[in-house]
Amino acid sequence: MFINYGKCGIGKINLELKIIGKCSRCRRGNAIINLRYAKQRLCKDCFNEFFVNRVRKTVERFRMFKPDERVAVAVSGGKDSVALLHALKLAFPKQDIYAFYINLGIKYYSDHLERKVIELSENLKVPLEIYDLRDEGYTIDDFMLTKYGKKMCSVCGTIKRNIFTKLAMKVKADAVATGHNLDDTVSTMLSLFFAGDFEGIARLKPVLKPLIKGQPRKIKPLIMTPEIEDLYYVALNDLPVQECGCPHGEFTPIKGIKRYLDMMEEEQPDIKFRLFSVFRKKFVPLVDRSREEIQEKVVECKICGMPSSNEICSKCRRVMELMEIKSGKEMKFEVSFEEVESMLREGNVILLDVRDKKEYDVYTLEGAINIPADEIERRWRELRKYRKTHKIVVFCNSGRASYAVTMKLRNLGFKSYNLKGGILSVQSS
Ligand code: SF4
Ligand code: ZN
Repeated sequence: MFINYGKCGIGKINLELKIIGKCSRCRRGNAIINLRYAKQRLCKDCFNEFFVNRVRKTVERFRMFKPDERVAVAVSGGKDSVALLHALKLAFPKQDIYAFYINLGIKYYSDHLERKVIELSENLKVPLEIYDLRDEGYTIDDFMLTKYGKKMCSVCGTIKRNIFTKLAMKVKADAVATGHNLDDTVSTMLSLFFAGDFEGIARLKPVLKPLIKGQPRKIKPLIMTPEIEDLYYVALNDLPVQECGCPHGEFTPIKGIKRYLDMMEEEQPDIKFRLFSVFRKKFVPLVDRSREEIQEKVVECKICGMPSSNEICSKCRRVMELMEIKSGKEMKFEVSFEEVESMLREGNVILLDVRDKKEYDVYTLEGAINIPADEIERRWRELRKYRKTHKIVVFCNSGRASYAVTMKLRNLGFKSYNLKGGILSVQSS
């Protein structure tokens, strides 16, 4: 069985699951998943059971919610939150569960995810609330105009956290569940540790208490689940999940500390669980004790009413900065074919075809060079000589993968533009 996660564009994951003997639990099924830390090889059914059981046990062990409480699940359409909603529903079929989706207005991405989340919640019969950032007059893409352009995930996270809290309070949820997995938690713990941000580590607990009255607690039912198992779960159960990576995501899905952790795991299969346990049991209580002495001050943000350490919360401050810039500047990341033609007449334009080489060989725009989207991380330096002097027009079939490449190149300092609608728009016009 092949797993293609993020089939198009940057950040693809391709995995193959092969039969590796008989299942260590049922002894009948063909084992396809090797859980080295648990010394078990599982078949599909036993893996599913194991996965859902662990979610149930995690919720119970950390007392994440009670049977009569309302749980809001933040679903992004990515593998973690999709696996979370599905497994929670199976583990607690009688629980009052709500799903939330925030449409971030990211072109070629957010609408695609929204369709997946609608499909999932309909399949599971879970009520879904959708919130569209465009109704507030801005999108995450717009932040490319601001100084946060190079830290899109950080500004996006601030906004999502704020809105999820607001939505959860609106439906009177007792807890908000997010899809943070074991790898996310341990790698963030280590990077915060290296940065000396010990208070940040204390916030990585499985359950975060409310800061103000009416605010739900934040819970992470996948905190004991390794990331790769979310992918297995979603693929084995054929759940509707994102097929394209976010244009603002990091170049590679497994990066930095996560990569080192994976390397360490080769020799010590339970290293991630051990690190999590040491941090949680030994480190966090120490930080908590010293924090109590400092007594953090929390107030309600004057604009949105959400908990904040300042009069105006960080989300509202960032949105205000954006709105100020947006009113004076038009964002232009996409161009029509007519505009490309006039750019070409002016000169100093590179046409960059990011489709696969096979497609490029059959047909492309005159003079275009080819770097497939999934090779851009490795090969973008080939374009370096044009950075100061040329505009780069990026295209693919639909405009989707090329939009992601356009954003990456912008972040690397290029004047890049996406061909609106992709090469299909050229052929049809
Ligand atoms: Fe937001 Fe970053 Fe996720 Fe994109 S990859 S949705 S910018 S957090
Ligand atoms: Zn606010």
